[in-house]
Amino acid sequence: MVMNKTLNVIYEEVAEVTGLSIDERTETLVGVSNGYHLTIGMKDNAYVMYASARKNGSLPDKEFAKEARKAIEGVRTVAIQGNNIAFWIAGASKNKVIANMIAAIKGATDYLRAQGYEDACECCGKPSDRINAYNISGGISFLCEDCYAKINQSMREAEFEEENTEENVLGGIAGALCGSIIGAIVIVIVARLGYVAAMSGVVMGVATIYGYEKLGKKLSGRGVAISALLMIVMVFVAAVVEWNIMFSREMEMDFFDGLGVFGTFLENSEIKTDFAISLLESYVFTALGAIPAVYSSLKKKRVAFDAYQIQ
Ligand SMILES: [Zn+2]
Repeated sequence: MVMNKTLNVIYEEVAEVTGLSIDERTETLVGVSNGYHLTIGMKDNAYVMYASARKNGSLPDKEFAKEARKAIEGVRTVAIQGNNIAFWIAGASKNKVIANMIAAIKGATDYLRAQGYEDACECCGKPSDRINAYNISGGISFLCEDCYAKINQSMREAEFEEENTEENVLGGIAGALCGSIIGAIVIVIVARLGYVAAMSGVVMGVATIYGYEKLGKKLSGRGVAISALLMIVMVFVAAVVEWNIMFSREMEMDFFDGLGVFGTFLENSEIKTDFAISLLESYVFTALGAIPAVYSSLKKKRVAFDAYQIQ
């Protein structure tokens, strides 16, 4: 995995002065600074710092978030997210972000200490000096050793279960068929409304893959092949339906009578070319939807059962 260049420069400069270090796998800064476990990552184009700190076992309330935002330099927003306290780093330019990040790391940890919040396990909430940073399913978690052992065990059980789940090919075919029918309907409707087919092709790609995975329980190479075949057929069916609606209307026939002579209609070479171009477009857009859907499914699967210590 290659990290974004700006991200890397920012992280390197911040790491140098704060004691945090770069974790390439999760593309985050992580470590202990000023006695608190922290991680900083990119979320929706903003840098967000997370801490796991509690006072008498409790997370802070909304009032704390408001006060903290005012008191801590370099921070735009503070909120409680799940079991973490999240600090959004202010600034847009690279240098401003670096300065704000460094200020926020110092400011937030000082503020937490002054308010009586202790570094705590984000799972059980207990303060402990045996908290470590772990990668859990592709994200950073700060856990005590007991909680990590429990989480790791349940992950191994879930992984074992997943490995022993058989792909249900018939279910997958049914799911992919449903998805591709939805895609075909969208293609026809969108085309009838006169819009470009890009989005509807993407819907076809995503819905078919999702359908296979949902009812097939697993997406294997075989599943991808079956889905691709269904997409090829259904995109073609959608194109014929779409064009035949136009054709039969023009010929003042009903849809099915039109379908009967649609082949003859296509013999007109100009129409044939137009039809082929529009079909090809539809296939390209469908691939644009399907390929990322397959990729994200495989990526999710790859990190789903990750559980290991980083620091
Ligand atoms: Zn714990």
